[in-house]
Amino acid sequence: MIDFNIPPFVGTEPEYMRQAAMGHKICGDGPFTRRCQDFLKDLLGIPAVYLTTSCTSALEMAALLSHIGPGDEVILPSYTFCSTADAFVQRGARLVFADIRPDTLNIDEKRIEEAITDKTRVIVVVHYAGVSCEMDTIMDIAKRHNLVVVEDAAQAIGSTYHGRNLGTIGHFGCLSFHETKNFSMGEGGALLLPDLAQRDEAEIYREKGTDRSRFFRGQVDKYTWQDYGSSYLPSDLNAAYLWAQLEVYDQVAGSRMDAWKLYHEAFAPLEEEGKVERPFIPDGCTHNAHMYYLKVSGLEERTKLIGHLRSEGVMAVFHYVPLHSSPAGMKFGRFSGEDIYTTRESERLLRLPLYYGIRKEDCEQVIRAVFRFFGR
Ligand SMILES: *Cc1c(COP(=O)(O)O)cnc(C)c1O
Repeated sequence: MIDFNIPPFVGTEPEYMRQAAMGHKICGDGPFTRRCQDFLKDLLGIPAVYLTTSCTSALEMAALLSHIGPGDEVILPSYTFCSTADAFVQRGARLVFADIRPDTLNIDEKRIEEAITDKTRVIVVVHYAGVSCEMDTIMDIAKRHNLVVVEDAAQAIGSTYHGRNLGTIGHFGCLSFHETKNFSMGEGGALLLPDLAQRDEAEIYREKGTDRSRFFRGQVDKYTWQDYGSSYLPSDLNAAYLWAQLEVYDQVAGSRMDAWKLYHEAFAPLEEEGKVERPFIPDGCTHNAHMYYLKVSGLEERTKLIGHLRSEGVMAVFHYVPLHSSPAGMKFGRFSGEDIYTTRESERLLRLPLYYGIRKEDCEQVIRAVFRFFGR
C-alpha cells in the first residue's frame, strides 16, 4: 500500500529532542524555539516569527491582533479548513464566504469587493496547495477599504508571489507544522509579523496575557499580567523536532518537488486528452510542492477513481467539504453571491500520495494506476 501521507522524518529529530531534554529547558521559547524562529525570519525576510502550538493558534492570534469583535464581518473562501473561520468566529465575527477561482481554488479576488459591507474588517486568504492568491489585487482592495489581511499560509511555507514570500504580504501570516505539512513538529505552527508595530501586543497574547517577553529582553524589570491572552507557545521539545527538519530545509523541500514534477510531467498527456486537469501555477508564482491533485469530471468519477486506486494499493483522498455547507458554517456565516465554483471544484478534486522521501517507484506505481483507470 502506498500511503497518502507519511510525516517528514529526517533522522536527527530524536537526538535534538534528547538535547532539549538534557538542557533542562523544555518549556516554550528555549534554544530550539529560537533557532527555528531565527531560521524562519531569515528564510522569509521578516523581523518577527513566533512558533505556536498550531496554525489554528496562530490564526487565533491573528484574530486577536485584528481587533475583531461581535458583529464584525470577515471575508474568506468556503473551500478551506475550519480553523481559518473558527479563529474569527470565536471573537464573535460573522463569516462571509466568497467564491473561489476554478484554476487555483483560491479566493476569487474579483468576488471580494462585492462581499464588502460597512461591517467588514478582515479578509482571510488561503494559499491552497501552497499556490498564491492574487495578492496585489487583494492588498489594493484592503487598502482602499481599510481592511486587515490575514494570510492562512498553513500549506505555503517557501512559496512566493512575484518574489515575495507567502505569509509576509498581508498584515499577519500563519504557518502550520502539523504532521500533514511539508515541515512538521507533530502539532505546531507559526505567526509571522511582517512589521514590528504589534510585536509587544502579539507577545502578550502568546504568553498568557503577560509581558514576559519584554522581561526577557530586559525592557521591564518584572513581568505582570497586562491583557487577555492564552498559551500559544509550544514546548522546546517540539521545536527540537522541527529544527531537525529546518536544518536540512533544501533536502526536505527538494524531495517533495521531485515527486511533484514527476507527477506533473506524467499527467500532461491525460490533460491534453481532456481526461483530467492538473494544478495551475499562475505567472510570477513559485510553489512548494505541498500537494499534488488531479481534477476529474465530477463526484461520481472521483469516487470511482479513489476506489480503483485503493484496489491498486494507492491511497488517494479528497479534500475540504465547503464550510458554507457545514453545520457551523451555516450557523456563523453566509455565502456572498453565487457558489459557481466552490462546490463544483471541491467535488472534482483528489489528492495523490506526496510526502518527504516518497520513492520514484512509488510515484510511478501511482501514475500507472491512474492511467489504467482511464484505459491507458
Ligand atoms: C493545516 C491547515 C490548518 C490548520 O493547521 P493546524 O496546524 O493543524 O492548526 C489551517 N488552515 C489550512 C489551510 C490548513 O491546511
